[in-house]
Amino acid sequence: MIKRFIRRVFGLPETVVRVPREKHGVSRDAISPAAAKVCATLREAGHAGYVVGGAVRDLLLGITPKDFDIATDARPEQVKPLFRRALIIGRRFRLVHVLMGSETLEVSTFRAADTETAEKDEHGRVLRDNVFGTQEEDARRRDFTVNALYFDPVTEEVVDFHGGLADLRKRTLRVIGDPVTRYREDPVRMLRGVRLAATLGLRLDPATRAPIRELAPLMERVPPARLFDEMLKLLLSGHASACLRQLREVGLHKGLLPLLDVILEQPLGERFVTLALAQTDERVLTDRPVSPAFLFAALLWHEVLAAWKLRLGKGERAVPALEAAMDEVLDTQCAKLAITRKLTATMREVWAMQPRFEQRSGTRAFRLLEAPRFRMAYDFLALRAASGEVPAELEAWWRAFQSADPESRKAMLLPETGPRKRRRRRRKKRSAAAPAPEAA
Ligand code: ATP
Ligand code: MG
Repeated sequence: MIKRFIRRVFGLPETVVRVPREKHGVSRDAISPAAAKVCATLREAGHAGYVVGGAVRDLLLGITPKDFDIATDARPEQVKPLFRRALIIGRRFRLVHVLMGSETLEVSTFRAADTETAEKDEHGRVLRDNVFGTQEEDARRRDFTVNALYFDPVTEEVVDFHGGLADLRKRTLRVIGDPVTRYREDPVRMLRGVRLAATLGLRLDPATRAPIRELAPLMERVPPARLFDEMLKLLLSGHASACLRQLREVGLHKGLLPLLDVILEQPLGERFVTLALAQTDERVLTDRPVSPAFLFAALLWHEVLAAWKLRLGKGERAVPALEAAMDEVLDTQCAKLAITRKLTATMREVWAMQPRFEQRSGTRAFRLLEAPRFRMAYDFLALRAASGEVPAELEAWWRAFQSADPESRKAMLLPETGPRKRRRRRRKKRSAAAPAPEAA
């Protein structure tokens, strides 16, 4: 028992087990033909060839894997010539992409984490780990026991160094080795843990969960681009709501989107974010497309609103104030989480269009309808209405306006916007400050 505990703490293999198909139930038919072919080819050339990581875990849980990663003892330069279409990629760690039909398979050579010699920052974060190793070392450098399983399509055995099969059976997510050390080496593992647990319906083992709250500030050391990738995975997992709930429960939400915790504490903000996430989850789970720009725009909207209102309160004009508020929020945000330029451009468009929905006068309403991002901006308006931020009537009007024929559209304009428009103009002339949005 103590021996087992010590092995576990140091991330040493408990007992290497090769588990036959009768005991785990995954057959070679469950993996893609391309993945099976790559493993078989590696085998024929005298190398090891296993499906590894997330795909094995998912198969054991009865989930169809998104992709199949392959692990081998062959070096990249030995792997490449075995396939007609293959290229060596990666600078930090070289691996091979094998293209087969429409599939791209990632073939990586077993590698060791080599925590002793690896270059680390002063908080213990590993900066480079680039040594090839044995299969056992390859298993040990992985994050969770359930992610360190290897499936051999030839023998249909699962190779399990860290008790991952038992953990899966217990529906437990457990860090390999000492959680504090492993989180210090790479704080993103905390975020991955929350995502995997929420997505797969696993329970975080108490020792895996306990240090997260205290180590959460380490997230600040993570390069913003990496954080963005992991956040995107989380948000598009189909279980974003559950993930966010878990993030809050374990105390990890603060470092990710600055002020997300503050937003979530305001009733309107929380309702808005919750609705956006629920809607995204539903779209992902029903295989409909999801726009990451829409999602990030939603997550940060109440921050933009707050910054905007502050400026309006100081007498700034509406449009420049909104522009400045967007800049402010995106600058703060991107320092931590590098949202790509392409996304921020779309987010700005969607935000900037929101006040324009309140102008339901003739040419303006028609012009808005023609705007390139109209549909996305309208969906955003619908969320604002559903969360109680703007009147439901405004959203209903735009819904009707879109689907109406040209004649009916014209008819819609007059009773609604005529008097409003005149009033607005007059007010504008009186003071430099434009009217606040209905929300303000
Ligand atoms: P998903 O289903 O989201 O792809 P995954 O577990 O396959 O989940 P990947 O990012 O594709 O996630 O990583 C593949 C494998 O690499 C993991 O299963 C795990 O073994 C290993 N891995 C990934 N990230 C880390 C990390 N930060 N530290 C240690 N091992 C990791
Ligand atoms: Mg994967």
